[in-house]
Amino acid sequence: MENAIALDRRPADRLGRPLRDLRISVMDRCNFRCPYCMPRERFHEHYAFLRTAQRLSFDEITRLARLFVPMGVHKLRITGGEPLLRANLPDLIADLAAVEGIEDIAMTTNGVLLGKYAYELKAAGLTRVTVSLDSLDPQIFEKLSGGFGHASEVLDGIERARAAGFTRIKVNTVIQRGVNDEGALDLVARFRGSGVTVRFIEYMDVGNRNDWREQMVVPSRELQARIHERWPLHALKPRHAGEVAQRHAFDDGAGEVGFISSVTQPFCGNCSRARLSSDGLLYTCLFAQTGTDLRAPLRAGADDAQITRIIRGIWHDREDRYSEQRMMLREREGAKPKVEMNYIGG
Ligand code: SAM
Ligand code: SF4
Ligand code: SF4
Repeated sequence: MENAIALDRRPADRLGRPLRDLRISVMDRCNFRCPYCMPRERFHEHYAFLRTAQRLSFDEITRLARLFVPMGVHKLRITGGEPLLRANLPDLIADLAAVEGIEDIAMTTNGVLLGKYAYELKAAGLTRVTVSLDSLDPQIFEKLSGGFGHASEVLDGIERARAAGFTRIKVNTVIQRGVNDEGALDLVARFRGSGVTVRFIEYMDVGNRNDWREQMVVPSRELQARIHERWPLHALKPRHAGEVAQRHAFDDGAGEVGFISSVTQPFCGNCSRARLSSDGLLYTCLFAQTGTDLRAPLRAGADDAQITRIIRGIWHDREDRYSEQRMMLREREGAKPKVEMNYIGG
């Protein structure tokens, strides 16, 4: 009886944080090799990516999404690796859109294949698109994508998404000092007044392979001051609890920009996200060292109540707050491997 009651309630973790969002990585492979995520020399042609049978099937993903709804999850984000490399992705979107209680399905993509799939994705029920774009400069873009794709393809993808009816499109830009920080204002200029919101992300020490150094982080406050000098900004109130981006509107009404400052202004206190890897491990932090296998019980025939109980237990025990403890943890646990970004997405 006790279990029946527990299964009805929305779980909170050890720090009182509810579970609200689920990020689903549908593909660990990528058609880019961004040095800060999948550096080419480490994710080379012999790298052992997951085999098809190891990845969760669409039915398994959809079943899990359905089980997350009663726990408080109404928003999903599809990510990767590159999610658009997953064959028939619009079919998965349609399956997820049909899950009762799912109100919002967003996707993060590098944008190269967006032009090809934008209409299908929209028709399938995808509600929002975030496109990663680190530079408009062809040479810097090439360096930051590991030599794959062109900024023009990404821009075309954004235009196609817009034509397909997506509104509130966002562009994610990871800024690294001395690499692409000089081009930040060009990106703002390109999208100001277009309805597309640029969000600058502080460079993070995700995974184990990007040789992150604190000196390469450009604090959001610094960037915001530079933008403000050129186009005056004012801060906007968060739209909802747990919003990760700090939003600022242009005084002249030409839209807004966002800043995701997980290094200099961590927001772990509001973090309500769970992350599912493409092979079905559930992670409660972007910087986690371990995840919990949901694929094994799914494939062993566990019923809904059993899977629900596992997920609730994981959330209940959660006490992650890596970004708030970054420097201490890096010193103490620097040698311990963290999950890779391409494996669970951003
Ligand atoms: N491939 C897709 C893309 O690039 O949009 C989706 C997956 S990617 C891992 C998700 C987001 O994580 C991207 O916006 C990417 O820029 C961001 N990201 C990857 N490595 C990062 C890092 N070291 N610091 C900050 N953001 C990072
Ligand atoms: Fe691929 Fe996205 Fe990682 Fe770049 S950030 S390597 S596009 S998964
Ligand atoms: Fe959430 Fe972990 Fe990021 Fe903190 S460091 S905001 S707990 S994902």
